[in-house]
Amino acid sequence: MTKVNKNPDGILGRVSKWLQKTPASATGVACSIPRSEHSISRSNISENALKVLYRLHKAGYQACLVGGGVRDLLLGLEPKDFDVATDAQPEDVKALFRNCRIIGRRFRLAHVFYGREIIEVATFRGMGDGDEGQRMQSDEGRILRDNVYGSIEEDAIRRDFTVNALYYDIKDSSVLDYMNGMQDIQNGVLKLIGDPEQRYREDPVRMLRAVRFAVKLGFKIHEDTERPINELAGLLRDISPSRLFDESVKLFLSGQALQVFEMLRHYGLFESLYPMTEEVLAGEEQGFPHMMVAQAMKNTDLRLQEGKPVTPAFLYAAILWEPVRLLTKQIQDEEDMPEYPAQQKAITRILSKQAKYTSVPKRFSQFMREVWQLQGRFVYLSGMRPYKLLAHPRFRAAYDFLLLRAGCGEEEQEVADWWTRFQEVSSSEKKKMIKTGTRSRNRRKKRGNNTQP
Ligand code: ATP
Ligand code: MG
Repeated sequence: MTKVNKNPDGILGRVSKWLQKTPASATGVACSIPRSEHSISRSNISENALKVLYRLHKAGYQACLVGGGVRDLLLGLEPKDFDVATDAQPEDVKALFRNCRIIGRRFRLAHVFYGREIIEVATFRGMGDGDEGQRMQSDEGRILRDNVYGSIEEDAIRRDFTVNALYYDIKDSSVLDYMNGMQDIQNGVLKLIGDPEQRYREDPVRMLRAVRFAVKLGFKIHEDTERPINELAGLLRDISPSRLFDESVKLFLSGQALQVFEMLRHYGLFESLYPMTEEVLAGEEQGFPHMMVAQAMKNTDLRLQEGKPVTPAFLYAAILWEPVRLLTKQIQDEEDMPEYPAQQKAITRILSKQAKYTSVPKRFSQFMREVWQLQGRFVYLSGMRPYKLLAHPRFRAAYDFLLLRAGCGEEEQEVADWWTRFQEVSSSEKKKMIKTGTRSRNRRKKRGNNTQP
């Protein structure tokens, strides 16, 4: 899949040779892979990350690139960002860089700012019995705070996956491998460090990270890493909804949202994030709600490929559309309420319930609300209404949403086609369309008491 290795004789070939010579150990003993035997070149590391690494090194600290930056460079991918690990403490880092801020409570980190690029500098984390106040766990084993510092070996053990625990040491450009990460990179295997169940209990978000990296890298999740997920998926309920929203955005805006969606459902993780949606999807794999969410994911992937802007709000609107629709109907029936106010009520309830799982920031939920509410206006094809709708600031997104619904058979294609044409034609043609336009759809005719503006 995205496992791009443009040069087959390059890194993987060389790593392979090196692996035959040097059996890496997974016990925390380093294997040092010299510059001549790996493919990471300084020219592929951001200048700002290099500046941070050099300055730390010059000041006498150990300074390594770590995590996704090293992993992606080894795989011939372009890293999203560069993270630095060091034995300097956050205050030491702050003393070296004027453009530095210390952030985080759960994990204290230094951020070094260069315009829009932020280099995250983390101090090696330890296992140690250190200061008890610096390490806190919940009764279920979840890590609440972790500010015990340690050696690089300890730091490696505390990372999530073996392929994320490789260090590029600026001192001599070697790659340090404590966890057999090189071998797993070569074999395309995603493997959690340590006992998987314990590691998921410490931080259930690692289950989502497993899906994200498996899809992004085209790696297979190791069976031991995979096995506990179904059973532990419910632990995500203990994670803050805002962290889960952020993770969901990383998952769905990764460029492979469709695959992520399918994998999340496969592992029972989707239900922990979107229980209302899972309820309508379960057992209805061929139905339009499934088609609609899957198509929205596909469209997002396509837009990203074409370099077009995407918003998580549109995806969230698609994910939650069926729960909103069903609740609207229910309120209409039970409270004998017209469609529009019933929908408003349903939207408010669905959004506040979803906020307990993944809390959608206000600007996105406002977008969703507007896109949903505009759907009912697309069936009015006469008078001034089409012009007003066309001029609405949210028209474009609402129209895209209409296309999605029509594509899945939830709205008549005829209506969507009318709007496609209405946007394309001249103003005199528009007038003609309006004259012949009728309020489409028989079932809408029943809504005589619709109070929609
Ligand atoms: P990308 O930046 O491409 O999303 P990444 O691997 O760099 O991937 P980050 O979230 O930037 O992921 O984290 C940087 C590194 O920090 C990871 O590679 C991993 O070593 C460590 N890490 C991050 N989150 C966790 C976690 N929940 N548990 C353990 N280690 C983690
Ligand atoms: Mg990263």
